[in-house]
Amino acid sequence: MITLADRGRNKAEEHTVKGRLVALVGPDQVEIHEYDLPELPPGAVLLKVRRANVCGSDLHIWHFLSVAFRDVAMGHEFVAEIAELGPGVTTDSGGQLISVGDRVAAVYYHTCLKCPACGRGDFAMCHNSGRNMGLPPTTPPHFNGAFATHYFVSPGQFFYKVPDNVTDAAAAGANCGLAQMMCSIDKLNVRRGQNVVVQGAGGLGLYASAVAKSTGATVIVVEKEPVRIESARTFGADHIIDINEFPTVEARTARILELTNGIGADAIIEVTGRPSAFAEAIDYSRVGASIASIGNLNVGKDFEISFAPALITRKQLTIVGILRYDPWYLKDALNFLAEYRDDFPFDALSDRVFSMDDINQALELSEARVVARAAIIP
Ligand SMILES: [Zn+2]
Ligand SMILES: [Zn+2]
Repeated sequence: MITLADRGRNKAEEHTVKGRLVALVGPDQVEIHEYDLPELPPGAVLLKVRRANVCGSDLHIWHFLSVAFRDVAMGHEFVAEIAELGPGVTTDSGGQLISVGDRVAAVYYHTCLKCPACGRGDFAMCHNSGRNMGLPPTTPPHFNGAFATHYFVSPGQFFYKVPDNVTDAAAAGANCGLAQMMCSIDKLNVRRGQNVVVQGAGGLGLYASAVAKSTGATVIVVEKEPVRIESARTFGADHIIDINEFPTVEARTARILELTNGIGADAIIEVTGRPSAFAEAIDYSRVGASIASIGNLNVGKDFEISFAPALITRKQLTIVGILRYDPWYLKDALNFLAEYRDDFPFDALSDRVFSMDDINQALELSEARVVARAAIIP
């Protein structure tokens, strides 16, 4: 068997020169493909995937609903270890020294460092953010997805070492949901003493609740699924508005006013993906509040609502749309997991493990919501 060590590139680490990945080949159709591991150009890193989560957007991509990501290697939410360092790589993106075997989390999107957005420092808005994720698996370096044995970190892509006391189960969610919520809470300028409403207590909502709580804010979660309501209680929610108990917008808004001394919420985080939740967030707002629009990602007739823009004017609201996150929030997310590991049950977010060969079952059970967060271990 030929090994990388035989190729003289890395004498410390021996592994086979082929890796496997989950290739999306049609709507709801995946195959396991095998490819040679890539040669590393300067600045690149080859990772060995330890654990990858099935995220809501993976299901969206699986159904061929994303135009940009069809013939791709699937998976983006993961934790891995360094298999090989390309020429010139000695540290992570935060300047920490790294070596083969270290656990890392990588920002899942590409930062080209050359486009107008990257030039402004708006890395989350990079015009080429989907460049690597959008490549067909047949094209070298092949390993641009996390449902795989290996993952290729391209030159310029941010990645960070995982603190030793953070488990793989907790770390796997850092580079998508948690980093995005760290970014959101920061952009909303949430502070001690404020009232923050989180609409929806799926994975994102639970992270948002925990991060908001850690700032010293009072957290109000709006949700209707009993299981999610129970989870919200363990992820920092001070108050829960059960939609079954408060079935109308008016009732929920009245409850928010009651919980905020008649003033309304300082910040609202919409992570339901329901267009009506955005209009409802306006009702919850105090004068001068901020709303983060995160869950709504689809465009078209079915995803439209009507509301009076005058409400935004008269309440002097700030509306922030948040897609992805600036890369350094991933480092914040990993530090957050290390600091608050005893305060919130992060491991419980990932409720079932599958092997890569059982990828169809993992996707189907995630779709059916039988499993909240499936993890793939290659
Ligand atoms: Zn994700
Ligand atoms: Zn760019």
